[in-house]
Amino acid sequence: MKQVQDYIRTIVDFPHEGILFRDVTTLFADPRGFRMAIDQLLHPYAGVRFDKVVGLEARGFILGGAIAHQLSAGFVPIRKKGKLPGAVISEEYKLEYGEAVVEIHDDAIQPGEKILLVDDLLATGGTAEAGIKLVERLGGEIIGCAFIVDLPDLGGHKRLKDMGMEVHTLCT
Ligand code: 5GP
Repeated sequence: MKQVQDYIRTIVDFPHEGILFRDVTTLFADPRGFRMAIDQLLHPYAGVRFDKVVGLEARGFILGGAIAHQLSAGFVPIRKKGKLPGAVISEEYKLEYGEAVVEIHDDAIQPGEKILLVDDLLATGGTAEAGIKLVERLGGEIIGCAFIVDLPDLGGHKRLKDMGMEVHTLCT
């Protein structure tokens, strides 16, 4: 039987020369692949109550919406700077070249709410760390961080573990 990683395609030299981009749109487009990915992302959390799923722009929205529905939880987006219409709080983080900023609505999470953070891929962990900081600044309690793809050589898995996070990934 095909596994989750079998549905993911690799695009050479995207978005820059020398980068192997793991393209999950082929996983999302396949009816069995997408269901398998959502089921496996949910697997460790059977019986766990979450108030909200937080998804990181943009592929984290696709996964997060499906997961939130399954958990009967709310969904909260973390977006790149300038995209959210209401009052926000921001976190800056380092990219390979330069910096980026992510934002969350300042009323999207209430203190003590139980949160599952979701994205498609964990590389350096910079994006996820910024997302975790935003959730924690609002008083949310992150119960788990779930990703389809883990690129452990880039250090993100260790980085999140060192922050005390429970990290769940489907393929390496
Ligand atoms: P990090 O901040 O951990 O270095 O990078 C992870 C973020 O960049 C995630 O939001 C992820 O969507 C995106 N990303 C980086 N490389 C890839 C890749 O090869 N494939 C996909 N699908 N996303 C990537």
